[in-house]
Amino acid sequence: MKNTEQFIGKRVLVIGLAKSGVAAAGLLHRLGAEVVVNDSKPLEGNEEAMELQTEGIEVIGGGHPSDLLERNFDFIVKNPGIPYSNSLVASAVEQHIPIWTEVELAGILSEAPIIAITGSNGKTTTTTLLYHMLNMAKKKPLIAGNIGTVSCTVAEKAHANEVIVLEASSFQLAGTESFAPRIAIFTNLYEAHLDYHGTMQEYLDAKLQMARNQTSEEYLIFNADQKLIKESVESFEAQKVPFTVLGKTNEGISADEDWIYWLGEPFIEIKYIKLPGRHNLENILSATAAAILSGCEKTAIENVLSSFTGVRHRMQFVREVNSRTIYNDSKATNTLATKSALSSFKKPIVLIAGGLDRGHSFEELRPFMKNVRAAVTIGETAERFAEFAKSCGVTETAQASTMQEAVEKAYACSCEDDVILLSPSCASWDQYKNFEIRGDEFIDAVMKL
Ligand code: ADP
Repeated sequence: MKNTEQFIGKRVLVIGLAKSGVAAAGLLHRLGAEVVVNDSKPLEGNEEAMELQTEGIEVIGGGHPSDLLERNFDFIVKNPGIPYSNSLVASAVEQHIPIWTEVELAGILSEAPIIAITGSNGKTTTTTLLYHMLNMAKKKPLIAGNIGTVSCTVAEKAHANEVIVLEASSFQLAGTESFAPRIAIFTNLYEAHLDYHGTMQEYLDAKLQMARNQTSEEYLIFNADQKLIKESVESFEAQKVPFTVLGKTNEGISADEDWIYWLGEPFIEIKYIKLPGRHNLENILSATAAAILSGCEKTAIENVLSSFTGVRHRMQFVREVNSRTIYNDSKATNTLATKSALSSFKKPIVLIAGGLDRGHSFEELRPFMKNVRAAVTIGETAERFAEFAKSCGVTETAQASTMQEAVEKAYACSCEDDVILLSPSCASWDQYKNFEIRGDEFIDAVMKL
């Protein structure tokens, strides 16, 4: 770790006893800070709270005492999920106390360079792809953030000859001040999380926070097909690496039907890529650019692209059964994700969709339902999705009460050369604990076919 001295004797309030709060509290305590942890939930039976107390950290539970901020904290580390409208956070903002997330700590302390990936969609896929590329090229990657370990814990242990690949959400980035990754990737921006960020501009600003402190030594890989992103990064100092899937360009990384181009030169032939979908081509371009900038050889990148079949539950290729290719996109909990999935295939699709009813409309999918041969619907929205599919001209629809039944019905509706796709367009909580369990049940049922 570097820059550790700056935390000695600092008074720090950690708000939120989740994974990131526990990690940050422990780390700052070890670095010699005076740490107080506060959580709105009562502490009884909370093992994490007890563990921190054993280490000698003060933990206050059961609410946010109004006089807590009188203790003159030097800064606050907040769980990314706690909104700025929280009364304690709002008072701290008013008093100009710096409010960080543990990502800021990771940036300050890490000896290893950091590659940070953000955007509305494609973060996990891009992070995973890049991790595999770096690993194949023996660059010693460490995965951090949502799909890995809390980033400040990874930073604590990382050496200068390793590289941290960090999936960063807008919530995490909103709480950074000096964070400046060696390479930043901005995948895309779609309307999301406005309940937290308030406006699209605030959401964009949080994401851009990743690149604001970068210098000309560092790189910013961004989606040049999105005008808003392209214009927003213009004034930044980092070396810019645009990516586009709209045809060859001479700067950054680009792709047409046949090739991926690096600085306008053919680099890898598209036909070697396993991962389907134009949206995944975007993820491939940004991961490839970051791998090149990290010194990975072309063969390592090629090896990964010709073998990587997707992250679990995200357009994951599961199996081929009697010439039907079957994909699990259980992570598609909204229409935007299902839209990407449907537009990934030219072949007829038997779609399994439906789940928690948030009263949301499926209209956005209408132009993409042309290829859907049949729809098998599940969950609370089973009926509503079936009606919607019929209104799009899908003649064959069926409802199923279990995933097993859905997969059997989908197979029965399918023909040779079809794609069978689980892409629910809805959250899973009506029938499952999470989308992972929904996807696992799907895979199990597919394996039994
Ligand atoms: P995130 O980690 O940002 O949620 P994932 O890689 O887990 O993203 O992908 C989630 C879903 O978003 C996928 O199932 C896919 O349908 C869609 N998706 C992935 N990459 C992109 C992209 N580059 N553009 C648009 N949609 C995407």
